[in-house]
Amino acid sequence: MMNRMETDVKSRPVMFVSLGPAEMELITLKGYRHLMQADVILCPATMTGNGKASSRAADILRGLDAWSDKIELFPVPMSKDRSAALPVYDRMCEAATAYHRAKRRVAVVAEGDAGFYSSIHYVYEKLHDAGIPVLCIPGVPAFIACGAVAGLHIVRQDERLMVIPGNTTADELAGLLEAGVTVVVMKPSLCADELRRFIVGHPDHHYHYFENVGTEAEYYTHCRDELPDRAFPYFSLMIIRKTR
Ligand code: SAH
Repeated sequence: MMNRMETDVKSRPVMFVSLGPAEMELITLKGYRHLMQADVILCPATMTGNGKASSRAADILRGLDAWSDKIELFPVPMSKDRSAALPVYDRMCEAATAYHRAKRRVAVVAEGDAGFYSSIHYVYEKLHDAGIPVLCIPGVPAFIACGAVAGLHIVRQDERLMVIPGNTTADELAGLLEAGVTVVVMKPSLCADELRRFIVGHPDHHYHYFENVGTEAEYYTHCRDELPDRAFPYFSLMIIRKTR
């Protein structure tokens, strides 16, 4: 019987490497090893308003100069409409397939964990369905890194956790917190007004708010009064706990 490492080498799957939220050192040793061994690293980027491609994943990789020559960026248009991004992910699939068939070692990267609110999973599924071997290397999701920044015990003992990707209301939050559920709000810009309404109406809960954790622009506050005025950029997140 082959062990996992030998299987990897034999079938040379396209590796989906989770990079962690921003800090180079939060890549796992396994992810790091596969990035080092990769011939090519396919990396999603975001098309910004000025027509440039910006990529948190590429920023993380750039911490390692030696790899810059093997990174291929795939700029994804910024849109709430997912269909605009699909042709780019399709091109990523085509590139990964071509490299795989040419016996090159391919890594596809994603910030945070590649299986947690990560649109790159579309590429994983499409390759898998087409019979291309794929393997995912787990990583540190942003909310876990945020909890560490604040020194939080995010959930303890019999507590429950709800992770919400920005689609919530003040009423829903009130019900969850009342039931003692700890809530992680990702993409808070998608529910900014509801979130502000909830915060103002429930001053007693513990609010932990984070921006760009692990970067030079990192910002953390647990001061409720600062929150209604924050703009909630894309890389921000809130953890709300009931006061006990
Ligand atoms: N796969 C990622 C999540 C991607 S969804 C993961 O495992 O964490 C993008 C959301 O993640 C952002 O809107 C934000 O809520 C959160 N996020 C990602 N990186 C972050 C960071 N460095 N600081 C704060 N929030 C972050």
